[in-house]
Amino acid sequence: MIDTHCHLTHAKLIGEQAEIVERARDAGLRACITIGTGPEDARAVLESIGRHPGFLYGTAGLDPFTSHRAGDRFDAELEELAGLIDAGGFCAWGEIGLDYHYDLDPRPRQRERFARQLELAAERDLPVVIHVREAHDDMIDVLSAHPRNRGVIHSFTAGPPEAERYLELGWHLAFNGVLTFKNAAAVRDAAVLTPADRLLVETDSPYLAPVPKRGKRCEPAYVAYTLAALAELRNVPLKDLDRQTSANARSLFGLADALETA
Ligand SMILES: [Zn+2]
Repeated sequence: MIDTHCHLTHAKLIGEQAEIVERARDAGLRACITIGTGPEDARAVLESIGRHPGFLYGTAGLDPFTSHRAGDRFDAELEELAGLIDAGGFCAWGEIGLDYHYDLDPRPRQRERFARQLELAAERDLPVVIHVREAHDDMIDVLSAHPRNRGVIHSFTAGPPEAERYLELGWHLAFNGVLTFKNAAAVRDAAVLTPADRLLVETDSPYLAPVPKRGKRCEPAYVAYTLAALAELRNVPLKDLDRQTSANARSLFGLADALETA
């Protein structure tokens, strides 16, 4: 199992990071990707992955929240972030995207800042981790205009119509604990129609813990519950789904070949 999206540098997790990684290994995980949001967090991500080589991988990007906080310093922060990424050690650009739920910045500015990062990721041939909330139409427009990019729609919580549009554009979909929530029938329908080679699982720790841990602080070990729910929904053996989703994560993010034989 691979948790393709967690925030191990989050204030709720960082103090216990070593134990959390230990529990993830004990639960059978082979890797976790911890997501960096902004230059400062990106440095914390690098330190974290340095403590768990071959198991912890990291990304960096200016998500809608960090972009908003950066305000007029956005260009400077983006330059700093690109410098960190060019120095090496990250497996993807992100998370970046559009958030029309919080609408912290005007939407045209969100789209512009997102598109600039897509272009930087494409120039570097890095996969992208996408955050999208209540903005699917605009997201699909922007991604359609950037056919060179590839990557994952993280925390996919929409339904079949949106899933089909992202899949047509070549993107992967990552499902998390929301899949196990009672009121998420449309998400489950989307998870069933996604081709096996485009499926990923994640936790989004410390958020969105799956049933039976719903409401608790989430950690990567809980990805096992989401994977089990997904196997049941798709009516496939857990082992096969595990092998497939892990292989998808390895190939999309270029995780070390060492994992193949681990
Ligand atoms: Zn995230």
